[in-house]
Amino acid sequence: MKCLIEKKCGSCKYINSSYQKQLDIKKEYCKKLLKDNRLDMYHVEDVLGMEHPYEYRNKIIIAFNQKYEFGFYEEDSHKIIPYDRCLLHEEVSDLIIKKIQSLLKRYRISIYDENRNKGLLRHVLIRRAIVSDQTMVVLVCNDNVFKGSKNFCNELIKSFPSIKTVVLNVNKRKTSIVLGNDEKVLYGKGFIVDELCGLKFKISPKSFYQINHYQCEILYHKALNLLNLKGNEIVIDAYCGIGTIGMIASSKVKEVIGVEVNKDAVKDAINNAKMNKISNIKFVNDDATAFMIKLAKQKQKVDCIIMDPPRSGSTKEFMDAIKILSPQKVVYISCDPSTQVRDIKYLAKLGYRSNVMYPVDMFPHTTHVETIIMLSHK
Ligand code: SAH
Repeated sequence: MKCLIEKKCGSCKYINSSYQKQLDIKKEYCKKLLKDNRLDMYHVEDVLGMEHPYEYRNKIIIAFNQKYEFGFYEEDSHKIIPYDRCLLHEEVSDLIIKKIQSLLKRYRISIYDENRNKGLLRHVLIRRAIVSDQTMVVLVCNDNVFKGSKNFCNELIKSFPSIKTVVLNVNKRKTSIVLGNDEKVLYGKGFIVDELCGLKFKISPKSFYQINHYQCEILYHKALNLLNLKGNEIVIDAYCGIGTIGMIASSKVKEVIGVEVNKDAVKDAINNAKMNKISNIKFVNDDATAFMIKLAKQKQKVDCIIMDPPRSGSTKEFMDAIKILSPQKVVYISCDPSTQVRDIKYLAKLGYRSNVMYPVDMFPHTTHVETIIMLSHK
């Protein structure tokens, strides 16, 4: 399939290569990264790809210009690239955006102009729970008043009954960070519920949720298979988001402790554990490094660590605490192999080693790749 957007937004750098070729490029990238870092002992497995590498993104962030055209930002700029249909997400998301476009015009909702810091609507975020067919619409605005919101929402929902909630997110700051801190639920409960690996997860607007549902299941299964859990382990799920992988692991272990810095995600995680009737998991709202240092001071017994940090990777202090806690196994999931490689070099010095990297294609057509490394203490 070909990208239909005339002027490219820059996200799908590999769209003109066959999918197999894309997977090969990503594998070669991982191999080179390891080699350049003198980690020659590593073998890179074939990238686990998608059968149908389209319509996988469950979250989109759209901006409008003053002419009410919608689109993505051009790479490294705030210039909007208008589009009609993007193949990375389901068509329904584009249809919802088109409906919102017509409503914005009809309700005379002004569009935010960042140069003048004036106008109301900054972005629209759409999140889809693909298995349960539930949709969340977040209207990111420069004010907490959205006149006519009741009728606006009713019209939107009438056209798209899969929309279970509409949230007004207030962002008055002069920033390129999309979401502000304050929220007002305009319709529904303020969250949607998705199913992942057989469990249910509430997702609220600000929580992190893996954007590729299909590949996320493959990623988690791979990571948990590598851990080869026996049933008696105490597991840390560091950088746990809304608690997904820890909860999926919980039936195979004695206890899981999740740590996450985003307070909304931790709230979701606690609710998710209740909703799935999981009682051997607890969540701590803290910086992962600070939390690990505390655990190390308390001499907490830990058998396994699952770590899934953001693109910037982990910290030396986090890894020093791993050494003190001395779990047998650490499974490191990463959305940026370059910081993962930096970190596993440090972990090797602390006695945690591996020789296999498992890439998973979470983001077809883009240059990004997710990787798993299972380290054990030697
Ligand atoms: N494991 C989860 C989330 C991975 S994304 C999943 O698979 O869905 C990385 C997560 O790390 C995000 O939820 C982000 O909020 C969190 N995070 C970022 N910096 C952090 C820090 N210093 N301490 C704890 N969590 C952090």
